[in-house]
Amino acid sequence: MPRTPYIAANWKMNKTVAEASEFVDALLPRIAATQNDVVICPPFTALAEVVQRRYGTAVKVAAQNMHEEDSGAFTGEVSAAMLVELDVEAVILGHSERRQLFGESDEALARKVPAALAADLEPILCVGESEAARDGGQTEEVLERQLQADLAGVDGADLAKVVIAYEPIWAIGTGKVATPKQAQEACAYIRDVVGMRGAARDELRVLYGGSVKPGSAAELLALPDVDGALVGGAALDPEDFAAIVEAAG
Ligand code: PEP
Repeated sequence: MPRTPYIAANWKMNKTVAEASEFVDALLPRIAATQNDVVICPPFTALAEVVQRRYGTAVKVAAQNMHEEDSGAFTGEVSAAMLVELDVEAVILGHSERRQLFGESDEALARKVPAALAADLEPILCVGESEAARDGGQTEEVLERQLQADLAGVDGADLAKVVIAYEPIWAIGTGKVATPKQAQEACAYIRDVVGMRGAARDELRVLYGGSVKPGSAAELLALPDVDGALVGGAALDPEDFAAIVEAAG
């Protein structure tokens, strides 16, 4: 069965509640006919509003982070149960901004991914190499290390429930998009690594993320091992994001 294209909008720390509702109202009529999975990842403060506005549509809502524990003395954090209570369906884990700016470790991710799955939240796990690692020929080594560590606590049978986003750090927010060859090779490699751990290889969805724009989306999304996109900058504008959803076919 072909994999349904998966297009996710990572708003990062952008959009107030008012701006989020304006976006959703503008987006929904533009994507009304799509059969693709469309996911919006607002900041925590706008989750409830986006959930409310998308009821009755196929749009899913994801958080951008969560803590692995159910509750406790973790000031500033939210748990999987708190997200599920809002009808949030997915969560981005391991975004490179969280790894680089907030010290998110592979050890924490090894606990977060199973915690999300246990709560029926779809994890969107981000992995990707730095520019220095790519230049040094270590892309595959970095990807394998992250995947093995972050997915260590997930049973083989559950691995295909994790959406993996290949996000080369050098391409995020830089305007430097990976070439189709680079994106295809890395996404195929990810499918192989997770497949070898027991995932249903053909069901696993692997996204590309890094400066995807309406003009570059179609070529990337047509690649055999690229099943969708995680979009940052271009997902702040409903017209651009709708164009990327449409480019996925
Ligand atoms: C991201 O934030 O995951 C991302 C890919 O950002 P951008 O599209 O702006 O590079």
